[in-house]
Amino acid sequence: MPKPFQNEPILDYSRAENRRKMERALARVRKQLGREYPLVIGGKNVRTGDKLRSLNPAEPDQVVAVFNKADISKADQAMKAALRAFETWRFTPARERANVLFKAARIMRRRRFELNAWMVFEVGKNFTEADADVAETIDFLEFYGREMLRYAARQPVTPVKGEKNMLEYIPLGVGIVIPPWNFPLAILVGMTSAAIVSGNTVILKPSSDSPMMGWLATEILREAGVPDGVLNFLPGPGSSVGDYLVKHPKTRFISFTGSMEVGLRINEMAARMSPGQIWIKRVVAEMGGKDAIIVDAEADIDDAVNGVLTSAFGFQGQKCSACSRAIIDQKVYKEFTEKLVAKVKEITVDDPVTNAYMGPVINKAAQQNILKYIKIGLKEKGKLLTGGEKIDRPGWFIQPTVIGNVKPNHTIAQEEIFGPVLALIKAKDYDNALKIANGTIYGLTGSVYTNNPDKMERARREFHVGNLYFNRKCTGALVGGHPFGGFNMSGTDSKAGGRDYLLLFMQAKSVSRKLK
Ligand code: NAP
Repeated sequence: MPKPFQNEPILDYSRAENRRKMERALARVRKQLGREYPLVIGGKNVRTGDKLRSLNPAEPDQVVAVFNKADISKADQAMKAALRAFETWRFTPARERANVLFKAARIMRRRRFELNAWMVFEVGKNFTEADADVAETIDFLEFYGREMLRYAARQPVTPVKGEKNMLEYIPLGVGIVIPPWNFPLAILVGMTSAAIVSGNTVILKPSSDSPMMGWLATEILREAGVPDGVLNFLPGPGSSVGDYLVKHPKTRFISFTGSMEVGLRINEMAARMSPGQIWIKRVVAEMGGKDAIIVDAEADIDDAVNGVLTSAFGFQGQKCSACSRAIIDQKVYKEFTEKLVAKVKEITVDDPVTNAYMGPVINKAAQQNILKYIKIGLKEKGKLLTGGEKIDRPGWFIQPTVIGNVKPNHTIAQEEIFGPVLALIKAKDYDNALKIANGTIYGLTGSVYTNNPDKMERARREFHVGNLYFNRKCTGALVGGHPFGGFNMSGTDSKAGGRDYLLLFMQAKSVSRKLK
């Protein structure tokens, strides 16, 4: 049996040695930028006429990698390959499948700095954010490998006289995995490895903003022993290839993480029966958030300032768990706001190769969308306290922005912005703060800063979010320790990195034999 699961420690980039290794990795990766990568279908590299370019958001003229774009005929080939591979992979012993994940984790540890460097170029994470993503990926591999061994062991059933009974978990079939770009390795590998270790085969359609991380994951999983056809790598536009695969009658499940709009569309499409379909497709959809941190009158204000700062502006606010609303008791609003704004003004924004606190947002459309929300926030009488503009340089940079005087029903207090924009909302008291916190369609993460245990207990019961924290940031969920997934329009609450997660990729079969 493997050793009990432990979270992978994050690299300390204040150490000169780690920074040197990272500089070398960045230089090595820089030399490889612009190369072309194929689709992988049934273990074969496949090229197409149409290309997709992954661009560096800090330097949009720089092509990170060129990908062959799949079309519907390639999606069909991938489905056939995945169906074929399922016939053997589903009977491969769970231990062998788990060992593939453990080996992939070892390869990732070996290639850690290189993976971090690719992520810096492809999505604009700074060194620590990139490393946390890779560490989480390793955690998923180690955790789900162990989980599969637990599910493959004898399951408890109540003894029935005169019978020998058992219950076993078997895989579902071919799954479509559709990840976002913001945790381009962790979420992609988390969903893919959970599906594969449970005995399913996968068609992976990476985000068009981060296909390189999808390629690296595919390469590593195949090197670790994932057989041909078990993992098919299929970059291409969500709107055509994604739609087609979601509707396909042989698709057994869809594992999606991304925006609410796309998640709801997938859920609706998957619910419609296609001709020839013989099952109800299972949809796991983890979606957006409008996460809040409550700063109570009985809080340690300096701690709260630090927690809100990290949660709102880490990776440019582009986390589903990011704090986009700080709800502050009016008694401490002035003190909190002054301290927070002073700190936000100190945030450095630069090309992530410099390891600045903040880098660019993912693409031009995101930059425009975020600036649009800032305008709306100010039009609705929010008060600009700092930031508010794009930064005049190549790349999709935006100043860290704080808008005060926001009312709970304002657009920027209701809709997901997915960028470095924080709304400050004044609450009359703790009751009012909880009501405001629960007053959106989402329910992903939340945090409360207070030193009052009774108030914590109230929030534990009433703050309706999938991941609730006290006196700490609302980002940075750890595999195993903080199983992750949200309520309401934040998704299906699948609790990635938790003990229930693999069940979403399996079905239970009960077998009973009459004894003579
Ligand atoms: P997105 O625009 O919804 O895209 C997510 C994925 O869906 C991409 O791979 C995209 O492919 C694909 N897609 C788009 N249209 C599709 C369609 N019609 N059919 C099938 N697939 C389709 O989201 P994103 O911008 O990548 O990610 C940001 C969002 O993800 C935010 O809302 C964030 O809150 C959420 N998120 C949630 C969690 C969570 O655990 N709850 C975690 C991370 C992120 P293309 O790139 O080719 O369009």
